[in-house]
Amino acid sequence: MGLEIVLLGPPGSGKGTQAKRIARARKLAHISTGDILRSHIEKGTDLGEQARPYMERGLLVPDELVCAIVARRTVEPDCVQGYLLDGFPRSLNQAKVLQELLSKSDGSLDVAINLDVADSELVERLTARRSCPRCGAIYNMKFNPPSRIPYCDVEGDENIVLMQRPDDKEETVMERLRVYHETAAPILEYYEAQGLLRPVRGTHLGSDGVYAKVEEILAVIETERPV
Ligand code: AMP
Repeated sequence: MGLEIVLLGPPGSGKGTQAKRIARARKLAHISTGDILRSHIEKGTDLGEQARPYMERGLLVPDELVCAIVARRTVEPDCVQGYLLDGFPRSLNQAKVLQELLSKSDGSLDVAINLDVADSELVERLTARRSCPRCGAIYNMKFNPPSRIPYCDVEGDENIVLMQRPDDKEETVMERLRVYHETAAPILEYYEAQGLLRPVRGTHLGSDGVYAKVEEILAVIETERPV
């Protein structure tokens, strides 16, 4: 049975960075609903066109669109070893849909890790975030800038100018945080009631510090799982 992880946390809490690292270390599929939606928008698919107006305003994309993405993605071959969901669930309904999907395949969620960071730090992190449109590398112009601003450091992409995600502009960031606080509590309560929730405090903690805490949690989960 694969290891199934949900990574929760407000926008800017470092979910994407941590998710990539955890998935690589444990050979899990990394499923970021935000990345999948952005790639639909880039390709101009119907789904992308439906999602775009919500994403541009920092609002949640309707559950049926996002749940359909997750239902399709989690049955792909690279998910057999397990997967890590980044940015899903974002509503109680999505959490319940995930549980149904898992039980249909005789699976169950192993852990829901919640990255908790103070709002003031989130605003600072998000508005300074830039990423490489080619390789997806993420930088922070304040805390982790590239060596040659405004270019990517990754070999082969040294001439690519880093970009700001449209929804990382300050007004949209405030709206995304408002939406997060409105929707997160019932999801956290849902996983808490199932004994699956593991909080990680990330305020004033760099990416390595957060990763070390996440690793500790996963090491315990792995020893407790039935083989
Ligand atoms: P993220 O990259 O996870 O910050 O997501 C960026 C945007 O994509 C969000 O602000 C939402 O508009 C949309 N989105 C991503 N995941 C979901 C989800 N699970 N449910 C609804 N909307 C989502």
